[in-house]
Amino acid sequence: MIPLVDLRAQYHSIKDEIDEAVSQVIESGQFILGPNVKALEKEIAAYCGTDHAVGVGSGTEALHLSLLALGIGEGDEVITTPFTFVATAEAISQTGARPVFVDIDPSTYNIDASQIAEKIIPRTKAILPVHLYGQPADMEEIMAIARKNDLLVVEDCAQAIGAEYRGRKVGSLGDAGCLSFFPSKNLGGYGDGGMVVTDNAETAEKLRMLRTHGSLRKYYHSLLGFNSRLDEIQAAVLRVKLKYVDQWNGARQGKAEIYNRLIAELPLARPAVSPERTHVYNQYTIRVAERDLLQESLGRNGISTAIYYPLPLHLQMVYENLGYSVGSLPGSERGSREVLSLPMYPELEDSQVEHIVDVIGSVLLGTH
Ligand SMILES: *Cc1c(COP(=O)(O)O)cnc(C)c1O
Repeated sequence: MIPLVDLRAQYHSIKDEIDEAVSQVIESGQFILGPNVKALEKEIAAYCGTDHAVGVGSGTEALHLSLLALGIGEGDEVITTPFTFVATAEAISQTGARPVFVDIDPSTYNIDASQIAEKIIPRTKAILPVHLYGQPADMEEIMAIARKNDLLVVEDCAQAIGAEYRGRKVGSLGDAGCLSFFPSKNLGGYGDGGMVVTDNAETAEKLRMLRTHGSLRKYYHSLLGFNSRLDEIQAAVLRVKLKYVDQWNGARQGKAEIYNRLIAELPLARPAVSPERTHVYNQYTIRVAERDLLQESLGRNGISTAIYYPLPLHLQMVYENLGYSVGSLPGSERGSREVLSLPMYPELEDSQVEHIVDVIGSVLLGTH
């Protein structure tokens, strides 16, 4: 069996450090918003190249609270991609604003920046690009459109921590960047967690209030907030893991290179990396017309795969009210029928990649 991700392999490579960090937290008796969260916020801000970082309960909450902190709400529109995890659009809707979907660039699966301008109306307040699978979206074009139209930009970096656009880390390019520490992300905790990075001190302060019941001073509440905090055990684990994230991202890139080289001769599309950016391969995603057949055959051969995502957001039942229909956003719809994510994690062995590609080849070339 080759799993899609193997979190145990990573744990075993740093077990002593993790166990020590976790038991220190338990001994300290301080579990919520303590010294580890504070230290992790400093370390992540330095890593991403921003002035501030605010730990929150999840990546979803990082998106939701940063939109709120930036003043987005009822009556506003936010432009985003339909080809993403539901949390991206859910966060917009939870503020009372309306998500407006723009189709993807079929080669990178990221939002097609050239289609954004035509969707801007007076109610449009922000653009929410997603750096899907670990590859930065076209941030130069997106930032130019935003500046020209006085829009905010919130980056969904859930799959892309450490990825760079023109030498700058994702999260530091827009007005706020949202990280997820869900276990399967490139920097994953052992539970839920998230963080917002920003250069804006006011936004950071607002986030610190929103995450803990609208207060900065205990039992004095100046606005309506939430309970959305990062806990000390997650922060302690993440501080250990942050030291390795570049090494692990490098290992992912190494596996992607092997896949790319071996897959080159096969009738399928490899991940395309656009110029001036690095891809950190949270997912290694191919595109193939006979996707369902291939997935089934790989499964029969003990190789796990996944489809991110089988139904684009504009066609989800929850968004029926937005008025999209089949054919509205054909690039995303075709993507949903053809993408397949293959096993990808830093500890994946080269020989396993070779075996996976062998099986793909025998399925697609009909020798299987
Ligand atoms: C994982 C993910 C999120 C949500 O993060 P959680 O920490 O699971 O809440 C949001 N957007 C994208 C693109 C993701 O992959």
